[in-house]
Amino acid sequence: MSPPKPLIDPQTVPGFLDADEGAALAQAAEIGAQRGDLAEIGAYCGRSTLYLGAVAQHAGRRVLSVDHHRGSEEHQPGEAFYDPALWDADARAVDSLAVFRRTLRRAGLEETVFALVGQSEAAAAMIAPQLGCLFLDGGHSLAQALADYRAWAGKLVSGGILAIHDVFADPAQGGRPPYEVATRAAASGLFAPWSQTGSLAVFVRL
Ligand code: SAH
Ligand code: MG
Repeated sequence: MSPPKPLIDPQTVPGFLDADEGAALAQAAEIGAQRGDLAEIGAYCGRSTLYLGAVAQHAGRRVLSVDHHRGSEEHQPGEAFYDPALWDADARAVDSLAVFRRTLRRAGLEETVFALVGQSEAAAAMIAPQLGCLFLDGGHSLAQALADYRAWAGKLVSGGILAIHDVFADPAQGGRPPYEVATRAAASGLFAPWSQTGSLAVFVRL
């Protein structure tokens, strides 16, 4: 059976996960949802959240969605993925929280998805969820990508799913840090490779 469909088409929400990757994420998340709740690091406007939320809702699970909603480096003014529609002139900063919240409401996910608005590592230090699925798609500097992996991957239960976005084996196709994290996960002895779809690499926690 294919995973439950989000109420609104995720590809109509601003974001960076393509349809194939989203379908693969949902498929993997369904397996993970048998073991525990779901979490994502990096939500932006909620595109990935829609895929995870639909799966969680169907499975009677919840999604913890972590993001400071101030954008990554590439979302800042003058950078490649800056979106002027997300500029908060008052704060003089990017703000994706309002759009993210609207996405949840439109998709009927307000009771399934919990937003944790703040820095990923600091948030991880405060909570100890037993996760069945973790989606890493936050800051893509090497320091941040590694910090997210170190802070969150240990919260996965055995049989849980680790999904990492923007994993490019060929450096010409994209930045290295998510690939470095995926390589570390593979070499850790803690994760078995499960699938790769586009730039979405999926592992199972042994
Ligand atoms: N998953 C989304 C895309 C996420 S973009 C999609 O499907 O489209 C990456 C997000 O990570 C941005 O919204 C940014 O605000 C967030 N982010 C970057 N570094 C972070 C950090 N250190 N703590 C929390 N969020 C962070
Ligand atoms: Mg991404």
